[in-house]
Amino acid sequence: MVKKRLVIVGGGPGGYVAAVRAAQLGADVSLVEKDKVGGTCLNRGCIPTKVILHSAELFQALKSGARSGILADNIRIDWPSVLQRKKSIVSGLVAGVAGLLKANGVKVFQGTASLLNDKTLEIVSNQEKQVVAADGIVLAVGSEPAAVSISGAGLPGVIDSTQALELSNIPRSLLIVGGGVIGLEFAAMYGALGTAVTVVEMQDQVLPGVDQEMAAMLQQELTREGVVFHTRAKIRQIAASTLGLTAEVEAGGKVLSMTAEYILVAVGRKPSIARLGIEAAGIAVNHSGIVVNEQFQTNTAGIYAIGDCNGKTLLAHAASAQGVAAVEHFMGHKPGYFSHIIPACIYTTPEFATVGLTEEQAKQSGRAVKVGKFPLSGNGKALIENSGKGLIKIIAGVQYGEILGVQILGPRATDIIAEAALAIRLEATVEELITTIHAHPTISEAVAEAALAVYDQAVHWPPKDH
Ligand code: FAD
Repeated sequence: MVKKRLVIVGGGPGGYVAAVRAAQLGADVSLVEKDKVGGTCLNRGCIPTKVILHSAELFQALKSGARSGILADNIRIDWPSVLQRKKSIVSGLVAGVAGLLKANGVKVFQGTASLLNDKTLEIVSNQEKQVVAADGIVLAVGSEPAAVSISGAGLPGVIDSTQALELSNIPRSLLIVGGGVIGLEFAAMYGALGTAVTVVEMQDQVLPGVDQEMAAMLQQELTREGVVFHTRAKIRQIAASTLGLTAEVEAGGKVLSMTAEYILVAVGRKPSIARLGIEAAGIAVNHSGIVVNEQFQTNTAGIYAIGDCNGKTLLAHAASAQGVAAVEHFMGHKPGYFSHIIPACIYTTPEFATVGLTEEQAKQSGRAVKVGKFPLSGNGKALIENSGKGLIKIIAGVQYGEILGVQILGPRATDIIAEAALAIRLEATVEELITTIHAHPTISEAVAEAALAVYDQAVHWPPKDH
């Protein structure tokens, strides 16, 4: 039987996972990557940030070790070693992805692809130009940092998230423009490493769109660690000064002057679709990226767009799941992609993770909801690990008790959220979470307590009318 020829453009978590899945399903798969496989996530996103965050957290933990009975003197950071460790973990994982593609028989082209029409691509590399024909094409070209168009944005020292992972020194001071996920992770990272960090956010809360109470709690924790926040604040211009860079920021009707060694612009991402030839294939785009339907098909038959480049959910695991769904559809299968159950994690200290609806979103959707909250100061393991800082919130439907959303602020929230995602996926009820016995002592016990709190029956927290 003649195999279907599938060409995937981009080897990030969307593209390489799609390639492996398509090969498993029997397609003849080619993957084109202009840089390194693993994409943004592996090379300049998820993984390198977490390597540095890990060192930063360890540094903080050792500095405050006396609380746990550990007395250590002269704790310092060996920054070149931190960067070297990051490099070696990233290169090991990149090699691992290349090995997986090879093991699955995926042909990898090193070069830049552009569409010539709906069935043909041109691949340009250092050495040559070649034309490749396909029965199907998956665009998985990802995204790149969006810039701010203000005077001084191009000055040396005004950096994006990629450059913020390669600084030759730990900055004395850092002004972060944008209090979203990326901005807060860098605030937590450099704050823990000793940098004086200021965050400027245009909206009236950090993490716009996230549960207000939880976002405010996280902001409070980061403030306690020394990060300075200005919400409803807008950067107007940047100028070079003797102390580094000076930004003019409009906040609360006043114009503030802020000086920092570096200014990190973390105001969002834009799809990497320039020079991709989308016009040649007649593919529609809108302000967020390539327009797709629920199967991730573009308006041009046989061409799919997955991951960051369609602007739907800018997360690595969403890109991978979309890649799997797209190639399963292409190969004639019926994929299962649940866009309402995508966990989102923020690797600050404490961590924050959310899945499903927030209380605000559930109410806006017209549902009658009940909310259970359990503060981690009532959880033994959290008290041991971080003095009990954090909160778990469960949003459930009134009629059936079905779990609609879960938000977790606390130690290892990013792992514990998987239980909540599974519960929503299985349409579990509050009762089912309550009767799932959780091990003691664990932070996850607090998930069951938050479920009990939906009925004001938490064991380790007094009832509301107490
Ligand atoms: P990408 O990973 O961007 O991959 C696209 C690939 O396509 C790239 O390798 C690029 O070189 C290639 N390409 C582009 N155009 C062409 C072309 N014309 N020809 C050939 N190749 C091309 N997400 C999480 O889930 N968890 C996190 O902790 C997390 N942390 C992040 C931290 C930072 C600092 C950043 C910037 C992002 C983070 N993300 C995180 C987001 C995550 O990195 C992206 O959502 C994810 O990488 C998107 O995957 P993708 O496959 O769609 O695109």
